[in-house]
Amino acid sequence: MIPIILAIISLWTTPVNAASIPINLVLCGEVPPEILDFLKDGLKKELAAEVTQVGQVPMHPCAYNLSRRQYQAEAFLPLLLPFKPGSKGLVLGVTTADLYVPDLNFVFGLADSRQKCAIISLARLQPEFYGHPGNLRLFRERALKEAVHEVGHLLGLGHCPKPACVMFFSNSLADTDRKGPGFCPECRRGLEK
Ligand code: ZN
Ligand code: ZN
Repeated sequence: MIPIILAIISLWTTPVNAASIPINLVLCGEVPPEILDFLKDGLKKELAAEVTQVGQVPMHPCAYNLSRRQYQAEAFLPLLLPFKPGSKGLVLGVTTADLYVPDLNFVFGLADSRQKCAIISLARLQPEFYGHPGNLRLFRERALKEAVHEVGHLLGLGHCPKPACVMFFSNSLADTDRKGPGFCPECRRGLEK
């Protein structure tokens, strides 16, 4: 029995081999370097991908919604496209701005799998956002899960019904905290196709 359990654990923890796919990270506004370094290392570990931080774009003033005091997520995607590393590469934007899409109060991230570009928002991943004491470890882990999740979409995955899989849809921060940064065996098989 133990070897089977070990085999299952190792399937969830072995990085997916996306080494042939370069991922370019682009900052949208200012992003703390301690989060960026953790994201770069974590994405390399989870996906075995080549991750490079390539640029920074200013916050998009037209994307700001004064009454919501949030930025529209979709408006950032065209700004990221010029940083795409070739036709097969992916680009991931990272921002501390609070993002929304028209039908939702907020989003942790948004991916356009056709254009191969995505963005994640760190705003609601910080414990301070909810009036809790700061916790860098928790903040970093949440950011990595959201980053791996959006890259999973860019690699063709949809949402997964398993709450522990990184591709589970996070409707709330509790969903993000419950899941891990890795892909379940089914999602892993989907990536390897
Ligand atoms: Zn998703
Ligand atoms: Zn899954």
